[in-house]
Amino acid sequence: MQTIAERLNSARKGIDQAANSAHRPPNSIKLLAVSKTKPVSDIMEAYEAGQRLFGENYVQEGVEKVQELSHLKDIEWHMIGPIQSNKTKVVAEHFAWVQSVDREKVARRLNEQRPESMPPLNVCIQVNIDSEDSKSGVAMDELDALVMFIKTQERLSLRGLMAIPNANPSEKQQRETLSKLKELYDHYHTSLSNFDTLSVGMSSDMTEAIKHGSTMVRIGTAIFGKRS
Ligand SMILES: *Cc1c(COP(=O)(O)O)cnc(C)c1O
Repeated sequence: MQTIAERLNSARKGIDQAANSAHRPPNSIKLLAVSKTKPVSDIMEAYEAGQRLFGENYVQEGVEKVQELSHLKDIEWHMIGPIQSNKTKVVAEHFAWVQSVDREKVARRLNEQRPESMPPLNVCIQVNIDSEDSKSGVAMDELDALVMFIKTQERLSLRGLMAIPNANPSEKQQRETLSKLKELYDHYHTSLSNFDTLSVGMSSDMTEAIKHGSTMVRIGTAIFGKRS
């Protein structure tokens, strides 16, 4: 059995290789370690191996971990799961990033509830890139309105786009989805300041995502092992 440190190391090597073959600087791609359902002791192991960016999916579980590890000031916590509007306050109070903003109501509440003592909350808009009925994420034809709304919110810093593409696409479908996402990202990246994040790619599609311009991959299973 490999340790978390070893698997983290392999994940970083995988990123570097994918970056090299895409002729991109390896340090232009961040690694978010997705620690959902995993104990704090696993996060500590990854932290001791040098990992600083962690992603959580469930509000309550995430907040508990943030509080338990609040002495580690250099961890950057990302909320990447769906947020009900009655949970926005604790999210605004505990996370540095929210990648799963997909509607105006949630954005407005996060903005109102972000404490003055903290820096603006970094947010990504989650886009429903494959237009799946079951999935969260803003519909493509509503993206522009949400971008413009978030830009008016002073306590939010709009950093980019996040997507969870179809789980088992054909190669062609995968290329099309990732290209479409990259095009959208480039459009806003050139017109908006601080818009520098394209969060796409998980354990199974990391290499393709990096080839298509991902600036942040979100890796869970390949670092922490299967979730039960
Ligand atoms: C769970 C999750 C991941 C990590 O997925 P793995 O397949 O375990 O690497 C990434 N992004 C989101 C939004 C997730 O919910």
